[in-house]
Amino acid sequence: MVANNFLNIVANLKQANKVLVLGHIMPDGDDISSVLSLTLGLKKLGKEVIPAIDWKIPSYLSEIDEVSLIKSFEEIDIKNFAPDIIAIVDASSPDRVGRFSQYLNDYNVLVIDHHATNTLFGNINWVDPTFGATAQMILRINRELEVEYDERLALINLLGIETDTGFFRYSNADERVFKDAAALISLGAKPDVIARMILENKRLEQFKLLSRMIEKLKIESEGLLAYSYLSKEDYEELNCTDEDSGGFVSEIRSIKGVEVAIFFYEYTEGEVHISFRSKEWFDVSKVALLIGGGGHPRAAGASVKGKIEDIVDEVVKLTISEIKNQKP
Ligand code: AMP
Ligand code: MN
Ligand code: MN
Repeated sequence: MVANNFLNIVANLKQANKVLVLGHIMPDGDDISSVLSLTLGLKKLGKEVIPAIDWKIPSYLSEIDEVSLIKSFEEIDIKNFAPDIIAIVDASSPDRVGRFSQYLNDYNVLVIDHHATNTLFGNINWVDPTFGATAQMILRINRELEVEYDERLALINLLGIETDTGFFRYSNADERVFKDAAALISLGAKPDVIARMILENKRLEQFKLLSRMIEKLKIESEGLLAYSYLSKEDYEELNCTDEDSGGFVSEIRSIKGVEVAIFFYEYTEGEVHISFRSKEWFDVSKVALLIGGGGHPRAAGASVKGKIEDIVDEVVKLTISEIKNQKP
């Protein structure tokens, strides 16, 4: 079934002349990597391809020049472009493509994703949660299409594998991840360039923001749960944006004995994103799904509207009871 869908997706892409490639809102490294790797691959085959994301691209990813190819929602005139296919990568449900979701009924939609919570919203869905990164799935599509890799494409493709596996540290960093990374390194990708760009590129203000987050840190469930939050005022006061708190949830998870980490942040007045992470046994995607989000067993998220303090209270209560349910 999954393999069939893979070949079906490849066949559809092969036939298409014009493709709109969409990533998800609040894009991360895997998303940008997958959007650009598919775009560059298809362009090499002579197709007309437009990549688009309905969200601001994080500035640390703008260091990759090819990111400037990615259009915003406002820049897309879909009727005029008239794509044969809309290919959606790394997105588990239609709302994840933002305002582009209004067009999905009118086009042939291919979904390529690794989230177990995927709602299979495309006309053809290749969804395989055994992949650590969607970027690995794009690598396979490009190979099947016989795309020739250059150093740039190899680097961009490796980016998603590095970021979604926490630079090869998470439980999704399996043998296939290392093999795919090794293949891309052979093709000229430099893993240290990506690591430096993302991990060693911090502004001093980010450390002040981290300090604020640590001040507000709380521990529950006998040390199994740790959480913290930042409000819009916190960001403004410290001359930061929500971009500056990328990675904070991993810092929380790194505390000894903590199984579940939650980081809440108010990215827009009255709108809060919740990032969940776990270490070994707690399935965070279950909690995320309950509040309208999704994700993976060890990394999930959701965005909700309301007062941040109320959201923190409610979600912490929900998580504490879910920890009791799931505790081995
Ligand atoms: P984040 O905490 O935002 O880094 O997201 C962790 C994981 O959860 C990623 O795989 C996201 O794609 C997924 N995720 C985050 N937010 C949502 C959402 N609102 N709906 C579905 N999946 C989400
Ligand atoms: Mn993603
Ligand atoms: Mn991903």
